[in-house]
Amino acid sequence: MWNITDIRKDFPILSRRVYDKPLVYLDNAATTQKPKCVVDKIQEMYYSENANVHRGVHFLSQAATDEHEASRKTVQEFIGAASPSEIVFTRGTTEAINLVASSFCREFCRPGDEIIISGMEHHSNIVPWQLQEEISGIKMKVLPITDDGELDPEELEKMISGKTKLVSVTHISNVLGTINPIEKMIEIAHAHNVPVLIDAAQSVQHRKINVQQLDCDFLVFSSHKIYGPTGIGVLYGKEKWLEKIPPYQGGGEMIASVSFEKTTFAELPYKFEAGTPDYIGSTALAAALTYVSGLGLEHIAAYENELLAYATERLENINGLKIFGPSGHKSSVISFLVDGIHHYDMGVLLDTMGIAVRTGHHCAEPLIRRLGIEGTVRASFALYNTKEEIDALANGILRIVKMF
Ligand code: PMP
Repeated sequence: MWNITDIRKDFPILSRRVYDKPLVYLDNAATTQKPKCVVDKIQEMYYSENANVHRGVHFLSQAATDEHEASRKTVQEFIGAASPSEIVFTRGTTEAINLVASSFCREFCRPGDEIIISGMEHHSNIVPWQLQEEISGIKMKVLPITDDGELDPEELEKMISGKTKLVSVTHISNVLGTINPIEKMIEIAHAHNVPVLIDAAQSVQHRKINVQQLDCDFLVFSSHKIYGPTGIGVLYGKEKWLEKIPPYQGGGEMIASVSFEKTTFAELPYKFEAGTPDYIGSTALAAALTYVSGLGLEHIAAYENELLAYATERLENINGLKIFGPSGHKSSVISFLVDGIHHYDMGVLLDTMGIAVRTGHHCAEPLIRRLGIEGTVRASFALYNTKEEIDALANGILRIVKMF
C-alpha cells in the first residue's frame, strides 16, 4: 500500500518551512531530496567504517572495500547489468558522458566520423561531443525533434550512415518529460552496427530499467536525482566496449603496474576509476537504490503518473497557461509559460509562497530555442509529492496571474 504520509516522514527536509510557509518542493528534476536512510548511511560510514578502500590490509579498509563493492553489486542488480565489472562509478552523468566521449572517440573515431545526438539533449550530452569535434575531428549530427517535442525513429534511420560511430540520446527529456522510443532507436542503430549510449539521468528514478533487455551499449545516471548523495554517478558499459576503450584519467587505483617506462592498467571496472573512489557516496547511493526498490518502481511510476495527470488537469484550466511537450505519454515534468508573465517572475513569485520550481533553459538551450521561447517554468514531481502540493502550485499561479 502506498502510504504517502509515512513516505514523507522518510524525508526530514519536507517538513521544514521557508518564508514561514510549508516547503513545496517541485524541483525534483534538478535534484531529489534524501530519505533518512541515505543520510544515516553517510553518517554510519564516517562514524564507523571510514578507511581508504582496496589497498588496505587492515580491518577498516577491508570493511569499507566490502561496502563499496557490495554497492556496485546493488547498482548492477538495480539496472540488470550482467556483471559488476560493467558498473563504473563516476562523479555523475556529466562525467560519465565525458568519459565515453573521450575514450570512445580516441579508440574508434577518425576525422569525419559522426556521432548522432538529439535536439532535446541536456548540455552534458552536447558539449562533450563538441569538445571531441575539436580533439578528434568528429562531426556531431543532431536528430531533429517534432513540434510536440518528440523524436521520430525514422529520422534516425535516415541519419545513420557508414560514418556513424555512436548514437547518444536521452531517455527522458529533463525539460519536456518526453519519453523517447529508445527501444526502437537501439534496434535501428544496432541494425547498422552502431552502439548506443542512453542518458538515463531523468529515467532511472521513474521507471524500471534493465540494460540487458534494452540492449543499450552504455547507460549513465546521477545518484542525486534518484534520492542518493551528490557527487557520484554511474556509467554502465557492456564489457566488450569497456574492454576496448582506453582509460579516461590516470592515477592510483586504475593501474596493474607502473614504471617510468610503461604502465599497465587494472581490470574492469577499475581501469576507469582513477584515484580514491567516493566509497561513502557509493554506499549511500546503494542505500537510495534499496529504498527505491523497497517502494517498488512500478508503484512509484503509478503514483507519479497520478500526480502528473492531476497537475496537468489543474494547470490546463488556467487561462493563458501553455504546457510544452507531448500531451500523452510522458514523465512527471511540466514545463509551462503563462501569457504575459516572464518565466523568471513566475519562479520568483512562486518562491515567495514557499513553492520551489525551476525557471530558464534547464541546461537545454538548443531545445528551448527550437520551441521558439527563452525559457519555461518547470515543475517536476517525485514520489513524495502530493495533490495538496499541486493545488498549492495551481493556486499560486492563479494568484500571480491576478497580480499581473
Ligand atoms: N542529462 C539529463 C537529461 C539531465 O537532466 C541532467 C541533470 N539536469 C544531466 C544530464 C546532468 O546531470 P549531472 O549534472 O548530475 O551530471
